[in-house]
Amino acid sequence: MNLVETPTRRKLPRRIAPIVAIVVHQTGQTDLAKCLAWYTAEAGEGPHYLVTAAGVVHRFTGENRVAWHAAIKPDEQRLYRQGWATWSRWIWPSGTNEPVEVAGEFAGYRSWRERWRPRIESPLDLPTGKAPNYLSIGIEVQSLEKPTATVFNPVQYTALGELIRVVAMRNGVPIDRDHILGHQDVCPLRRTNPRGGTDPGDRFDWDHLWSLVRGSQLNGGNGNG
Ligand SMILES: [Zn+2]
Repeated sequence: MNLVETPTRRKLPRRIAPIVAIVVHQTGQTDLAKCLAWYTAEAGEGPHYLVTAAGVVHRFTGENRVAWHAAIKPDEQRLYRQGWATWSRWIWPSGTNEPVEVAGEFAGYRSWRERWRPRIESPLDLPTGKAPNYLSIGIEVQSLEKPTATVFNPVQYTALGELIRVVAMRNGVPIDRDHILGHQDVCPLRRTNPRGGTDPGDRFDWDHLWSLVRGSQLNGGNGNG
């Protein structure tokens, strides 16, 4: 793995709860320099890791620190607590400070419903609960100027698969869909548009990711370094 230490200047709290999940994101912008500047700024919010378009992995902080990558706001939590029938009728337009009620179930939540209902009522029932930042490792993957059909390029999937395998094994996180989550799984209200989840996106290729993670396990580990 091509790992580059890129420490953030932000003071981050020491982790007090065990790591139970990994949250995969896609960056809000395509410009790598701007992503790095924000994730390392004293007031910046960012993940533990970023996978660039070239497959380079930046580490901003140790896994023993809490990183600010997937907060659930109090207003969001209140809606989730009321269950699917309620929160699925609310959206949170990006750039605004509060949720808005819509008529009936919001179309963008279809993929969330298909994946998680009827097993759970809301993201609060996922292993990350109401405090994903305190319970997970965050991995951002750089958005591409011209996204591929599967959101990211093959080099990114390969690097992400290897990183997830290493982080999961180190922390005893099960490698399955309940514990390797997308930001849109844990924060659907603020990570969905009318077409679906946006982070890392409904076209993110989970099956391909599993094949890469398991493939590198079968190879016994440090295959391609
Ligand atoms: Zn995200």
